[in-house]
Amino acid sequence: MEEKKTGDARRETLLCKDKNGWDRISPEDRAAVMPYAEGYKAFMDAAKTEREAVIETIRMARAAGFVPLERGKALKAGDKVYRINRGKALMLAVIGNQPLEAGTRITAAHIDNPRLDLKPNPLYEDADMAFFKTHYYGGIKKYQWPTIPLAIHGVVCLKDGSTVEIRIGEKDDEPMLVITDLLIHLAGDQMKKPLAEAIPGESLNVLLGSIPLENDEGADRVKLAIMILLNEKYGITEEDFRSAELCMVPAWKARDAGLDRSMIGAFGHDDRVCAYSALTPILEEDTPEYTSVCVLADKEEIGSVGVSGMMSTFFETFMDDLCEAQGGKLKICLENSLCLSADVTAAMDPNFPEVSERRNEAKLNGGTAICKYTGARGKSGASDASAELMARVRSILDGDGVIWQTTELGKVDQGGGGTVAGYMANRNIDTVDIGVPVLCMHAPMELVSKLDLYMTMRAMRAFYLA
Ligand code: MN
Ligand code: MN
Repeated sequence: MEEKKTGDARRETLLCKDKNGWDRISPEDRAAVMPYAEGYKAFMDAAKTEREAVIETIRMARAAGFVPLERGKALKAGDKVYRINRGKALMLAVIGNQPLEAGTRITAAHIDNPRLDLKPNPLYEDADMAFFKTHYYGGIKKYQWPTIPLAIHGVVCLKDGSTVEIRIGEKDDEPMLVITDLLIHLAGDQMKKPLAEAIPGESLNVLLGSIPLENDEGADRVKLAIMILLNEKYGITEEDFRSAELCMVPAWKARDAGLDRSMIGAFGHDDRVCAYSALTPILEEDTPEYTSVCVLADKEEIGSVGVSGMMSTFFETFMDDLCEAQGGKLKICLENSLCLSADVTAAMDPNFPEVSERRNEAKLNGGTAICKYTGARGKSGASDASAELMARVRSILDGDGVIWQTTELGKVDQGGGGTVAGYMANRNIDTVDIGVPVLCMHAPMELVSKLDLYMTMRAMRAFYLA
């Protein structure tokens, strides 16, 4: 009996205590979890693409007193600024008491997510039906996209410099769009194919309509009727699709999931769940000790390339403008800065135990998940955060009572993934990945836990103020 007590005491002091977050959460945090999720769901419904996320973020930032960063204008502690990158990415900052050269606290999340983009020549007719051709964006399981309600979101830019915004399929009285699948009765051959081949990318064509133009003997009467409809509503012609960015996204809203409402099901938690968790605390800041910076990047899902991706020097330009406003040097600022690469991770799914390594994979309700390294096949391509940085982040999170866990993406050699962490670390910024565990990541319907969402916001808030 005496020996067991000794063991209990040592168990308490020596071993990790990875209890379910609901068994560890304080009464104050428990009361705040559900209300915080309500704001997040509203954000998700307003922002289904990176462009919409920028618009919604700016609306929130302006309401919180943020103004566009003006190059050459001096900045003082407490100033709140932002800059938009071509309508698809943005950065926000709250100037701290310490000079920029003392370093900043940067969070970097992404606001693009896997979906179907329209091709430059999307509209065609086949068998008296009109369709849009699509090219998928990011890593999707193609079989998940037929026979679900889809909406079209995006912009058509006209030669006169004006932009037409299109959003069809979200309201109850609007039509939805659908990609067809083969009926089971004729799917004998299809059902024998591997999942990756059963629905080819070129079959992800969106059905648009089926009524031919009246009193006409010409070709493609259904296609023409659809084009007339679009022209009447938006003033566009077929050629205008060539200067458009139109996306097909699931038409459903973010909703509570589970009988206990402990989760949220939505399209695009990756990575708007971390974008929202990084954004909301910076909006509430007064004057931090070190300057807080929040990056909401585009193009993470296709490698962070391009002018709006995390590799773009838009980041350096913004940071340099901040530094110059105080007569500071960018390279000194970056070398003293810390970055949380805020991106989702996989939550262990007991329905697929064969890919999981349960001792290391994040669990739903385990809190926000820190990922020391991502990559694949021997950490290849990973930004491996240092032990020193891990210790610093642990100290920040524990010091503020944040519920957190560590994570790895599945079993060794099972697969892998990446985030923007490497691109931040390459800039000589100490960086580590942290974010919300997600079930069915990259599916049209992803799931997160409200506790993990809330704890990720708490982690970001503690980090900004550290
Ligand atoms: Mn992501
Ligand atoms: Mn992703």
